[in-house]
Amino acid sequence: MLSVENKYDVDQKVFVISHRKVHKDTTKTCDVCLGEGNIKYRGYTMPCPKCCGKGRVVLEKKDIKIYSVDENPHTITSVRFSVSRQGQVLRYRIDGNKFDNKNVEEERLFSTYDEALKKCDKLNNIDVNQKTDYIWHDYYCIPITGENIIVKDVFGKEWDNHRWNGSCYYEYCETFGKPSRVDIVSWRYAEEGK
Ligand SMILES: [Zn+2]
Repeated sequence: MLSVENKYDVDQKVFVISHRKVHKDTTKTCDVCLGEGNIKYRGYTMPCPKCCGKGRVVLEKKDIKIYSVDENPHTITSVRFSVSRQGQVLRYRIDGNKFDNKNVEEERLFSTYDEALKKCDKLNNIDVNQKTDYIWHDYYCIPITGENIIVKDVFGKEWDNHRWNGSCYYEYCETFGKPSRVDIVSWRYAEEGK
């Protein structure tokens, strides 16, 4: 006799974790122009032939996953359990199959937003014990959700009042937050008590 232990039931509100792939280039300073982008040759200044004037060369290209949680709860519309030679599968339909347009595994569902956020932080490899000021992290390294951070744009300008809200970088302005307009290349945690 099979007994199915489903954690969630039909009509229950849940918070769902999703991930998206982002492209990440690991670069290093060009060893011909030493990051200048230009070289001098017989008294002439010309664009560096190795990095084409960019100052940096790409070492590795890869796709990484960023996990996030939708802050709006979703409703379970059906629970499906199936048994095959490959094993047992428990899947949930959410919002009448509108969510992601497919059945969702139990591991992606949470009864509270906070639980879902904590799981995302973990999946995004955030080490909560390594929250150190003054260390700059690159864009793809996700900060602890809700912590104050300072971001740096492509021109090296710093912007404070930023946070990661669980799905995107946003700018906090007094009473509301909105997605950041800054073209963020790196960030660091703000000092404690600031
Ligand atoms: Zn170069």
